[in-house]
Amino acid sequence: MDDATKARLRLYLRGERALGLSSVPTGNSAAVEQSRPEPPQPILPVKSPVQSQARTNLFGSEPEAQSLAAEGLSPMPTVPSFSAPALSTDEKKHRLAAMNESEVRGCTKCRLCEQRTHTVFGEGDVDAKIFFIGEGPGETEDRTGRPFVGRAGELLNKMTAGMGLKREQVYIANIVKCRPPGNRVPAPDEVATCTPYLERQLEIIRPRAIVTLGLPATQYMLQTKTSMGRLRGQWHKWRDIKLMPTYHPAYVLRNPTYETRAAVWSDLKQVLTELGMPVPQK
Ligand code: URA
Ligand code: SF4
Repeated sequence: MDDATKARLRLYLRGERALGLSSVPTGNSAAVEQSRPEPPQPILPVKSPVQSQARTNLFGSEPEAQSLAAEGLSPMPTVPSFSAPALSTDEKKHRLAAMNESEVRGCTKCRLCEQRTHTVFGEGDVDAKIFFIGEGPGETEDRTGRPFVGRAGELLNKMTAGMGLKREQVYIANIVKCRPPGNRVPAPDEVATCTPYLERQLEIIRPRAIVTLGLPATQYMLQTKTSMGRLRGQWHKWRDIKLMPTYHPAYVLRNPTYETRAAVWSDLKQVLTELGMPVPQK
C-alpha cells in the first residue's frame, strides 16, 4: 500500500470511530435493542509507567500526525448507548456515595495515590443538566477533597454565575481524582486507570451536556489529538451526550485576553442555547 492510500485509510477509520460506528449493532438489531445493556465497561489498556511520559504542553497545539497509540490514547470503547431508564435522584445519590466511599476514597490503582492528601470525587447536583470535567485536583482541591475550589475554581464559579446558574446546580469532576505532583499533566496511564470512575459518574448522572475544560479532559473524552483551538466552540459527542470543549479556567487566568474570555463565553452560551436554557445578557 502506498503512503497516500495508508493515510486515506487512517483518516477513514478515524472518521468511523468519531461517528461511533464501531458501536452500531450489526446483525440481529431487534434483539440487541430489546435486551437491556450491561453497564458499559470501558476497556482501556493501561500502559506501564515506563512507556508513558507526562505531557507538558498543556494548551499548545500538538503535531496531529502522531498516532493515537503513540500518545497513549486508547481507541473509543465500544459500548452500548444509554438506553436504560434514568435513575431516581435518591438512587443516583446512593450509587455515587457508595462508589466514593467504597472505591475511590481508598483507591490505590495508580501512582497518584502516593502523594495525595485527599481524593477529589466530584460534587454538584446529581440531576444536573451540565457536567463540567476538569483535569485534576490542584493543591487546594487536594487539601479539601473538593473540585475547583482554588483560583481556577473561583473563575469556574464566575463562569457558571454568568450562565445564570449556581455552582450547586451543575456537576463538577476531573479526569483524575488525585493530584498529580506539582500539578503536572496526568500521564496517559493514570488517566486510563482513573476515568472508569468518571465514566460511571456520567452514566449515573446522565447530564444533557458535558463541558470539558482544557486540553487533557477534551482529548481524553473525545479520544483525539486535535488542538484546543480547533475543538472548542463546536459540538461533539461522548456516547449519547453532547459535549462542548472550552478553555480551562486556569488557562484563562494565564491568558486573560478579551479573545480568550469571549471564546469561553461563546462556548457556554452555545450550551445554554442547546439546552433551551435562558442566556443572560452580559
Ligand atoms: N483544576 C482542575 O482541572 N480541576 C480542579 O479540580 C481544580 C483545578
Ligand atoms: Fe485511584 Fe484515580 Fe487516585 Fe489513581 S488518580 S489512585 S486511579 S482515584
